[in-house]
Amino acid sequence: VDAQPTPVPAVPAPAVTVPAVAGARLTVPLVTGERVPYANLDHAASAPCLDAVQDAVNELLPWYASVHRGAGFASKVSTAAYEQARDVVRRFVGGRRTDTVVFTRNTTDSLNLLARSLPSGTSVVLFDTEHHAALLPWRGPRVTRIRTPRAAGDAVLALDAALADCPVGPRLVVLTGASNVTGELWPVADLAAVARRHGARVVLDAAQLAPHRPVDIRALDVDYVALSGHKLYAPFGAGALVGRRDWLQAAPPYLAGGGATASVTEHRDHLGVSWASAPERHEAGSPNVVGVHAMAVACATLSRHGWDAITAHEQALFARLLDGLERLPQVRPLRLFEGGDRVGVLSFVVDGIDAGLLAAVLSAEHGIGVRDGLFCAHVATRRLLAGTGTGQQRAVRVSLGLGTTAEHIDRLLGALRSILTDGP
Ligand code: PLP
Repeated sequence: VDAQPTPVPAVPAPAVTVPAVAGARLTVPLVTGERVPYANLDHAASAPCLDAVQDAVNELLPWYASVHRGAGFASKVSTAAYEQARDVVRRFVGGRRTDTVVFTRNTTDSLNLLARSLPSGTSVVLFDTEHHAALLPWRGPRVTRIRTPRAAGDAVLALDAALADCPVGPRLVVLTGASNVTGELWPVADLAAVARRHGARVVLDAAQLAPHRPVDIRALDVDYVALSGHKLYAPFGAGALVGRRDWLQAAPPYLAGGGATASVTEHRDHLGVSWASAPERHEAGSPNVVGVHAMAVACATLSRHGWDAITAHEQALFARLLDGLERLPQVRPLRLFEGGDRVGVLSFVVDGIDAGLLAAVLSAEHGIGVRDGLFCAHVATRRLLAGTGTGQQRAVRVSLGLGTTAEHIDRLLGALRSILTDGP
């Protein structure tokens, strides 16, 4: 007798088409030796490459050369690809024409660049549940960490109060678009409006938001956006900081070296260095032309396809996941806020089963890739774990993307049902 009949999914599979990803065709071995199609449910860590990105990278590979430095044709091709990418990435996040696009390695790099570019005496205000990339770069006495409230609406009041306490001088508010632990969306426009009233600038960590929803600097009224190519269906190694030029222009170069200089002259006892203007000022060394091109192609492909279909695909699958998880009372999803919109990212604990063991079994026995741990957001995840009262020290995270199918969701739900019935 089947004690756990397989419920018919109440939520239909999505009926829209989305851009194809290369990783969707992978198969992986199980402990039994059998190979199954890989169910990648770990898009929040890094998303597989879009087919369009793979094609564009293949096309550029024979041509890549040093940018801005060569007279040869290959160098011109690379320079054009690199410089066009600035415009594509700027438009992808709705940047102003006057905004600077500095290419970095990733979101972490972008936020550290901004942290090193702040005018002296800048007060920095942020919520304490941020990803470490947004939590840690800011140092000094003028950093205020607000305890994240249980209601997203209260975040506006808490930010207002924190900014009212800031000393006179430049101010920066650090916000995240979507939580990498819970997928929940922060009320960025409302928080940015509060920041404006206090004369503060806003930087948006869009690492987790940009792959799922359109980001619009002007509509949100933020000053800077940081993002990573590898979360946007392009390979590793390229990211960007997009935003107002003045602080970046006045700051010392992020790295000292070639490409960041306008001129270097020799004097009797020192070198006279005149640094280039932003963005080159902060891009010393040979840049990652292929990575930047790949990121730009990913941005252009997502925009061209349209966000309505991308969002509809993900939301249908996410609803199917939530519906299935609700039937498993031992599974306890983590949430920062009560209610509210979210992208297809969800972390949970299971009563009595360690997250690491669960993730390992999902991989080895079912070909499902999830992440377990504290997700580089230790403060947030530990607090949410403590709130479950289960004693669990880490969580499992499931994150959806363009390569996700209804079969992946159903396989995960089936696997959880069998682990909960028979043990891991
Ligand atoms: N911010 C958020 C919300 C993230 O999810 C991540 C990565 O997981 C980062 C920042 C850091 O991104 P990267 O590792 O690409 O620098």
